Amino acid sequence: MRRDHRARVPRPLPRIAVALTAALLIALAPPPAHAADLSPRSDAAALLRHHEEARARVERLRAEHAPRDVVRAADRRRWALRGELWNLLRGWQRASGDPVAVDPSGRAGHCPVAPRRMRRAAHPGAGSGTRSWTAPTRSYRLSAGYRARGDHWAGRHTGQDFAVPSGTPVHAVGPGTVRITTCGDGYGNQVLVRHPGGYFTQYAHLSRIAVRAGQRVLAGQRVGSSGATGNATGPHVHFEVRITPYLGSAVPPLPWLRQKAVRIGR
Ligand SMILES: [Zn+2]
Repeated sequence: MRRDHRARVPRPLPRIAVALTAALLIALAPPPAHAADLSPRSDAAALLRHHEEARARVERLRAEHAPRDVVRAADRRRWALRGELWNLLRGWQRASGDPVAVDPSGRAGHCPVAPRRMRRAAHPGAGSGTRSWTAPTRSYRLSAGYRARGDHWAGRHTGQDFAVPSGTPVHAVGPGTVRITTCGDGYGNQVLVRHPGGYFTQYAHLSRIAVRAGQRVLAGQRVGSSGATGNATGPHVHFEVRITPYLGSAVPPLPWLRQKAVRIGR
């Protein structure tokens, strides 16, 4: 009898399954329209500011020939801040559909393949690669600057635009490794290079990409040709300096270049 009674008691499992399904559906539901208000934008901005202050401190200590362990401790703090910002932005960018976060392989879209002649020129040794840092392009006119406001951007402009005719060679500003190439979003065809010291440079709206993810590049090595792909009204290079691969971590690009003894004209 007891056994029969037990058999009639409804099992709790289906209820748990229903609860789990509901939780899953909530998790998979598209974010509400006001999600942008809840973004960690202000946290990211604060971390970015602290990182740049920490970097300035490291540089000051180095210039003052401070004891090595003091410099090392200051640099550890800078890297910790960078790690914190990286973690914050990675999740956020994945949710917002940033191709760098969503598709690290860079295989989405239809990236145009550079002609063989250009790929040869992009090969280290064959191009104008040097040891000193350089501007991302030549014979440019500086157009939209960092933090400029425009109809094109949801917030402030995150990079510096270099207006040049379409097809102008675009160079890596310093030595590094190509982190990713993507195409098809607002940045059009873009190349992201990782440099020693933890900074990334971005070259966007390219007509052609001349490098592949994982490839090492020298300062001045060609990474592509300028164009107007993506969200661009005319041919230009959108150049950005970031402390992570993700949107939301850009620092003022021209002071950064000038610190590396790069002369930027008007
Ligand atoms: Zn731009």
